[in-house]
Amino acid sequence: MDTIREPARNIPVVQDVDIVVLGGGCTGVFAAIRAARLGAKVAIVEAANAFGGTATNGFVCIWHTLTDTTFKKQIIAGLTQEMIDRLRRIPNGIRIHMPPEGDNVPYRGANYHNYHLNTEEMKIELDQMILEAGVTPYLHTRYAAPYMEDGKLKAVIIENRSGRSAIRAKYFIDATADGYLGADVGMEVYYHDTCVLPATMGARVWGWNNLTEPNKRLRTPESQKRIGGRAGWDDMVPGADNVCSWFKSQFPEDCSKADVLTRGEMDARRAIREMMNIFREQDPHGNELSLVALASMIGIRETRQLKCTYQVKTDDILYGHEFEDAIAYCSYPSDIHTAQHISIFRYLDGGERRGSPQGESIYVRWRDDDGPYPTYWQLPYRCLLPEKVENLLICGRAIDTDKGAFGAARVMICLNQTGEACGVAAYEALNNNSTVQKVDPAALRQRMQAGGSIML
Ligand SMILES: Cc1cc2nc3c(=O)[nH]c(=O)nc-3n(C[C@H](O)[C@H](O)[C@H](O)COP(=O)(O)OP(=O)(O)OC[C@H]3O[C@@H](n4cnc5c(N)ncnc54)[C@H](O)[C@@H]3O)c2cc1C
Repeated sequence: MDTIREPARNIPVVQDVDIVVLGGGCTGVFAAIRAARLGAKVAIVEAANAFGGTATNGFVCIWHTLTDTTFKKQIIAGLTQEMIDRLRRIPNGIRIHMPPEGDNVPYRGANYHNYHLNTEEMKIELDQMILEAGVTPYLHTRYAAPYMEDGKLKAVIIENRSGRSAIRAKYFIDATADGYLGADVGMEVYYHDTCVLPATMGARVWGWNNLTEPNKRLRTPESQKRIGGRAGWDDMVPGADNVCSWFKSQFPEDCSKADVLTRGEMDARRAIREMMNIFREQDPHGNELSLVALASMIGIRETRQLKCTYQVKTDDILYGHEFEDAIAYCSYPSDIHTAQHISIFRYLDGGERRGSPQGESIYVRWRDDDGPYPTYWQLPYRCLLPEKVENLLICGRAIDTDKGAFGAARVMICLNQTGEACGVAAYEALNNNSTVQKVDPAALRQRMQAGGSIML
């Protein structure tokens, strides 16, 4: 590739903080708030115009159950619970689907018990929580590069409407989802295979309830050919029951690359138009549909991940292995979407659901013994912890997992906890004037619990 040399220049240091968080999805925001509430001076840098990442700007608005698979034992609290409580106080801020009654209800957490967020109300709540905690927010600001001195990470270079500048910090949290800072400081980057879980565009349409079996219509071979893949997964906006958040499964390609991401965004919008056309041509109420919003960013399920001190394995999840340094709990199944648009859910009770592109499901067993079956699984601090870099932590979907474990850990109720763990761990290291590797897991767990997290 042809190159040019960028001239060296001095840039201003706009802020000196204890901890800087890069990426303002819920994961990053929760990291920043937990550290700031403990007394650290914290800044957060977000490329978009609002916090919340995929949960808000991508319209991905479902948080799954905070309980184990019995629906009786709460295993997640912290800022996830706090956000749910805040949204409950706002009319139509959230819609809650309660778990089914009865003792022998098989756990299918994705469908049964969950929280449907009003993404726009959540943007406002996230702003308020950041300001209440005293975190310095930088919106419309992109992390561009690390600044090192004597091999040590000292600052990050950012770019925004005021130009290029730096934030100096003692500790750094990479919540960019694509692991930008970790990769830039030399952490090993990996992909599970050549096909990542597909990125998906969200759209909101008014008039959805007037249509006849809309998802079925989109799943015919002819519709799939027109829109270039699978579409479906609809969810009503809380309080606006004829307005549907509606999704088009898109690219099993690496959206951490600029050209792929550009193509993905534009092609997904074209496909949304095509879906509208299908309804307009085929449904008696199709012409009443109105496209009221497109997500401001395509939802990305998977790109690259960062090699940390421990890689969480599929069996750690499915057999509920215990870790002394556990910092997050969850009961969500291993949920993998393939390039052929087949979804595979592996549940902790040994059941497996295989969904076809046409939306049909078959149930099989992936486990043929009689158990005992775990009712939740856990993540260790070490899967957020770089082996060498002494003042960096990773949260969000770039954490270290194999493919099957990623299928479970990637959900937001889990990743939110990785953010909280990073915020508290960075504070612990700061407080002890030490490295993130030397953080005592027992002290970390104790401090997380004192701040509202459940530690089992
Ligand atoms: C279509 C779809 C459906 C899904 N369904 C569900 C579901 O039902 N329930 C569930 O729990 N999970 C679901 N997931 C998974 C879940 O949404 C994601 O795994 C999770 O939101 C990732 O969180 P994150 O914090 O790692 O990333 P994000 O939420 O994407 O946050 C990363 C943030 O970093 C910012 N950023 C990136 N680079 C930079 C930079 N250089 N400078 C500054 N900022 C930067 C981004 O703008 C973004 O705001 C789904 C995902 C998709 C795509």
